[in-house]
Amino acid sequence: MTTDIRKVTVLGTGVLGAQIAFQSAYSGFDVTAYDIDDALGKAQKRFGELAATYAAEVSGAADGRAEATAAAVRLTSDLADAVRDADLVVEAVPEVLDLKRDTYTKLGELAPEKTIFATNSSTLLPSDLKDSTGRPDRFLALHFANQVWKFNTAEVMGTAETDPAVFDRVVDFAAAIGMVPIPIRKEKAGYVLNSLLVPLLRAAGELAAGGYATPEDVDKVWQIATGAPLGPFRIYDVIGLATPYNILSHGDEQAQHIAAWLKENYIDAGKLGLATGEGFYRYTDGK
Ligand code: NAD
Repeated sequence: MTTDIRKVTVLGTGVLGAQIAFQSAYSGFDVTAYDIDDALGKAQKRFGELAATYAAEVSGAADGRAEATAAAVRLTSDLADAVRDADLVVEAVPEVLDLKRDTYTKLGELAPEKTIFATNSSTLLPSDLKDSTGRPDRFLALHFANQVWKFNTAEVMGTAETDPAVFDRVVDFAAAIGMVPIPIRKEKAGYVLNSLLVPLLRAAGELAAGGYATPEDVDKVWQIATGAPLGPFRIYDVIGLATPYNILSHGDEQAQHIAAWLKENYIDAGKLGLATGEGFYRYTDGK
């Protein structure tokens, strides 16, 4: 897939930002990663961990390519320097409206005319942010799934003001870094992925928290009867229980009941999912 985008800057080097930066550099792009000063040490560590993960899980990455990728990402805490010549900025700063708006206001003043801005926000619509960018025609959402090297969808979603040519360029870029681009034709909270996943996880929680079936049996039905590789509780473990808990605890009465069940039975016992070695299932060496 060809693209005219060469220089990519990623804002935020947390869970997703580090992955987006790494995947882009791994695919041969010139990548700069920006974060606040205090976070740069952690970012360096994340890139080292991603190199080890790629070497273990991505074919062709073990022959030094993953290590070279970690070294190739340029890290900075100077926003002006980070975006000076960027063709594309992918923003993955925390999911806080005011923080994102503030970031786009600064970015709009510092980035050259040519730069396209893309948000990786999971829950905000690009319309919530477009006015702060100063360039709504060159702004849209580019939404990745966690663990981009294997769960490689990239949902591309503009506003009514996004230039269709910009949309197409971002679709091409997503394909060029090994993603399967999914164009979302109208703005939709949750894109495709979370529009399907959030209700599924809630329904599963309702069944188990209500005592209708065990988490294992809920997963068994889903996997056997639909052929899905993972059941919803396995997915809870992969995501980590904290994020679904936060979403559910802000919901209606039924959602809050599920949240309380998650907290009492799992979160308070330190069972936060795959990352902590146990959630609904037990894991050894991340398996
Ligand atoms: P995170 O908390 O892991 O990382 C956020 C990063 O932003 C941190 O490194 C932090 O130091 C940095 N940061 C804080 N203030 C900043 C600022 N002013 N400027 C630049 N960087 C700043 O968050 P995350 O999980 O990577 O999520 C980031 C975005 O990606 C959110 O919009 C989220 O909705 C989205 N997203 C997350 C996931 C996921 O599974 N975690 C999946 C898809 C999309």
